Amino acid sequence: MAEHQFDAIIVGAGFGGIGAAIQLKRLGFDDFVLLEREDDLGGTWYVNHYPGLAVDVPTTSYSYFFEPNPNWSRLFSTGTEIKQYADDVADKYDVRRHIRFNTTVEGARWDEDAGVWRVALAGGETLTARYLITATGFLSQPLTPEIPGITGFEGTIIHTADWDDSYDPTNRRIGIIGTGATAVQLIPELARAAADLTVYQRTPIWVVPKVDVPFSARAKRLFARLPLAQRAIRVLTDALYEFMVYVAVVHRRTFRGRFNIAASDLAKMYRFVTIRDKDLQRRLTPDYDFGCKRPTFSNSYYQSFNKSTVHLQDSGINRIEPDGIVANDGSKAVIDTLVLATGFDLWEANFPAIEVVGRDGRNLGKWWRETRFQAYQGVAVPYFPNFLSLASPYAFIGLNFFNTMEYQMRHMDRLFGEVKRRGASTFEVTEEANTRYLDRMTELLGDSIFTLGNCASARSYYFNPRGEATLLRPMSMRAAVREASEYPLSDYHIS
Ligand code: NAP
Repeated sequence: MAEHQFDAIIVGAGFGGIGAAIQLKRLGFDDFVLLEREDDLGGTWYVNHYPGLAVDVPTTSYSYFFEPNPNWSRLFSTGTEIKQYADDVADKYDVRRHIRFNTTVEGARWDEDAGVWRVALAGGETLTARYLITATGFLSQPLTPEIPGITGFEGTIIHTADWDDSYDPTNRRIGIIGTGATAVQLIPELARAAADLTVYQRTPIWVVPKVDVPFSARAKRLFARLPLAQRAIRVLTDALYEFMVYVAVVHRRTFRGRFNIAASDLAKMYRFVTIRDKDLQRRLTPDYDFGCKRPTFSNSYYQSFNKSTVHLQDSGINRIEPDGIVANDGSKAVIDTLVLATGFDLWEANFPAIEVVGRDGRNLGKWWRETRFQAYQGVAVPYFPNFLSLASPYAFIGLNFFNTMEYQMRHMDRLFGEVKRRGASTFEVTEEANTRYLDRMTELLGDSIFTLGNCASARSYYFNPRGEATLLRPMSMRAAVREASEYPLSDYHIS
């Protein structure tokens, strides 16, 4: 039997993969498959379900441009609601029937003679497609720290990205490692129930209050009947976040860190009014600029440390023993549960998340490491025909993943539209266009907080292991969306 050749294979059924699928459908493709390693869709919003999970971008902005959701219960919605939104969108656009769950992709190789991608699955099967789109997300490979003794711990170990919903923290003695955005949401939940909670902080995080409001039934009815009303609020919340990224991150040179100072003053005042102990205030204060690392929003994180049962341990972890954690200051916390809020391996395991081999045997991961991390407009790479990588260097726009998705869908629209118009079957970005984009990103980064700010001690995942801040696309969302709709088609070889 002749092998089936798909029009396209999309790797990942999170919001990136679902958006790419919707775009392919709009372009008239129907014979495509989404390969998803989990048993359900939603990506990070399916995998993460730890207590306290909520979005830290206003939900009026946290949706596809074309699919506002009138059902959000509040301005900063919960993880459960966002997962529901992913389900609703996938059903509405009939994406679910294209998804193959429990399917782990091992690698993809461009077959030059046949002009197709061969995609190898765990278990030995190989699928073939004309186009390959990887939508593997930025935060999809959980990081388990290599701490001496960790494998010998005899209590319960839970990574926040693999939360056990049956776990009850009531009266437990818990140690939690990490103080990133996840820990900031989880710590207040654990602090409420645990008999004892020790928080292992390596790098303090900037925390500002969260201005959250519920949406009344009336507001939801209004959003449903008059989507324009919700869009109007989106314009405001988009503009606010866009302003923050523009002023505090991208145009540091022009604004000379004034916004960053104001934001850190706000965080300082917030610490001052919420934490009684002066020494604790000091130890929770970051020594790097606001904006070097993704800041967090919480109305309950700092307050948790006022409880007599919650302890901050910031001397570093020496080792883990079967019944506890020994810190560098010699003290030992005896615990029955070790929570790893240690985040994700962004650079080593994720760029790329699967092995991708293009034309002339070029291996994407090796090439990025031997040269520099780069991808034209955050999606395309020379020597990789018919391939779009949505989780690329210089792809992520500011704080909101949906803004990244918006420009990437427009990029696909322009590119695949042209391929179809010409009756062509192959596209590949030119080396010249890729170099031009990389040079421009490098130049723009020169004006950003990552070059001009005090970021050395931030340990921020915005920086790759070589110390270059190659994650964010340092421009406004409007500019990225405009470029995605107007880039010169001559930037691609189309044949
Ligand atoms: P993260 O920001 O990478 O934080 C990981 C934490 O673990 C850091 O405090 C890190 O310390 C610590 N850590 C890692 N390895 C360690 C080790 N060996 N020893 C001691 N400490 C160690 O991960 P995350 O909190 O899961 O958040 C990741 C991203 O997910 C966020 O930035 C955000 O973009 C997203 N997120 C969003 C939401 C939301 O929308 N509401 C919620 C959660 C997460 P160092 O800082 O010293 O490295």
